[in-house]
Amino acid sequence: MMTLDKVTLSRIETLHPKLRLEAKDIYIQICRCLTGRAQVRFTQTFRSVAEQHALYAQGRTMPGKIVTWAEGGRSYHNYGLAVDICFLVDGKTISWDTLKDHDGDGLADWMECAKVFENHGWQWGGRWTGGKTDMPHFQKTFGKTTTWLAEQAKKTGRVYVEL
Ligand SMILES: [Zn+2]
Repeated sequence: MMTLDKVTLSRIETLHPKLRLEAKDIYIQICRCLTGRAQVRFTQTFRSVAEQHALYAQGRTMPGKIVTWAEGGRSYHNYGLAVDICFLVDGKTISWDTLKDHDGDGLADWMECAKVFENHGWQWGGRWTGGKTDMPHFQKTFGKTTTWLAEQAKKTGRVYVEL
């Protein structure tokens, strides 16, 4: 039987309300696709602007390596419209191996995940160009820019803006 990851399920609940059901569908579809030792986990969904600022500082004004291209307010995570993934191998080891085919079906497990997201109209950071690839990142923009989202959030005081 397929076991769902409680951590992932609870993180889905912090996405924009309009995306929660869809994200759960995506998650379950991926679980069905990945039949090997690797299971997908959503590592980040909603992220506050303050958290984004701190993350942006990492590798720039603070120690560590660069993990984001977006400043606070400039990430779709800040509006609950993005998901980052990793793999959980054998239920415990975190992996970002994008090439491995754990279930031996001839397709890298990471590509299987990307396919499911893209089939639902999500953009994949793995396709970004100009040296700004973000393999674990998926977002659904509803055709809105982060500038527009930031304005709406400011106007209404709500991070989950009307879409
Ligand atoms: Zn991300």
